[in-house]
Amino acid sequence: MDTDPETSGQCSPNNVASIHKLLDALMKGAAVIVADSSDTKIAALDDLPQNARECFRASRHQTEVWAQEHRRQCPDCIEAAARDYERDATSHQADGNLETAELLRVEAAERRVKAAKGRTAAKEAAHE
Ligand SMILES: [Zn+2]
Repeated sequence: MDTDPETSGQCSPNNVASIHKLLDALMKGAAVIVADSSDTKIAALDDLPQNARECFRASRHQTEVWAQEHRRQCPDCIEAAARDYERDATSHQADGNLETAELLRVEAAERRVKAAKGRTAAKEAAHE
């Protein structure tokens, strides 16, 4: 597992800060509500930074256009998707599905490039 933000080296400082804020919110008693519908939510969303709230909201909606649009453009979400692809690749590799694992790794790599480009573009826009 390389999901630990401290050791994977894949998370931006922003991302790590968001995760810490999320953990803080949870420690302060924000409720994680898992309903029967498997709809999970955190009650104290106000404690999250705005960009993390957007990612969180988008992550709960698979089919809505606005959520798909967010995931298509948000570097954090694109990178999260890359990690999902890598996890699946590792799992397929363990089962001997080497071709599928390879395809999933390519998908993951493409998303990492896209996330990096998105971050660079956002940085350049901020300096203008
Ligand atoms: Zn996002």
